[in-house]
Amino acid sequence: MGTIYSHSRLSSFENCPKQFEFRYVLKVPSASEGVEAFVGKRVHEVLERLYLFVGKGQIPGIEKVVDRYHKLWEETYDPERVRIVRENTPLSYYRQLGEDCLRGYYLRHYPFDDSETLGLEKRVVFPLDDAGEYRMQGIIDRISRARDGAIEIHDYKTGARVPSQRILDQDRQLALYQLGLARTYGDDTEFRLVWHYVAKNRTCVSTRTKDDLAQLRTETIARIDEIQAATEFPARKISLCGWCEYKDRCPLWASPEDLARIEAEDAAARAEKRETGARAPEPADDSQLSLL
Ligand code: SF4
Repeated sequence: MGTIYSHSRLSSFENCPKQFEFRYVLKVPSASEGVEAFVGKRVHEVLERLYLFVGKGQIPGIEKVVDRYHKLWEETYDPERVRIVRENTPLSYYRQLGEDCLRGYYLRHYPFDDSETLGLEKRVVFPLDDAGEYRMQGIIDRISRARDGAIEIHDYKTGARVPSQRILDQDRQLALYQLGLARTYGDDTEFRLVWHYVAKNRTCVSTRTKDDLAQLRTETIARIDEIQAATEFPARKISLCGWCEYKDRCPLWASPEDLARIEAEDAAARAEKRETGARAPEPADDSQLSLL
């Protein structure tokens, strides 16, 4: 069985092949994460827990939800690891942002009865082709059945920008999840793709036709072929370089001295791995890397 791809893996290659190489080919461990991703993870965790309680018929009060968020923050925040990229933005701003996201979401959706939750943080793995050579995976924030019977695929976004409807109608991530879920719920089931832009307290919805999904399947297979055939991974400067966990070893940003030092360290690590037979772990996929 070959590599299982994900939307994040494909996006990493599309955005910057060098980052893809660091993350998925060389599997260089990430020593840091941007504070935006850190906040996003905490918000996701709290919303998952909220819906777990809702499913048991126990809706927690809003203050309890916010308390849970701050407790999780205290338990997981590591100043050595979490980086603030934007200058002059204090940590307190980000902490408050997470709280505001949760308060807004809670008040907008209380008492959480507009749909029945079918799955939370659900991992889906599915083939794109009949032979099962091209496989995808993803983690869906929430799956639910709406009152009209449609299956909804929910995604929480903590980023500040809300894309236009045109962009959302072409979004790949949730449409891929629909391809995966159609294997469970049937091709003729009505699906809705739902994004919750919690920092802006906005909900956006899109749908896909069968033709859209067929085209997505073809394009994704073509992209995987392109990645599998790649032998070179050039660095490409992008607006998200500041958040890239490999900036300190990137040929476009690091000094020649740093690059030489890192190359020597990598060579030593590779030699040690060969001796011990140790394998680098797969990087976490579909984490909250696209939260900006
Ligand atoms: S810092 Fe920018 S150019 Fe360098 S690897 Fe990361 S995304 Fe690519």
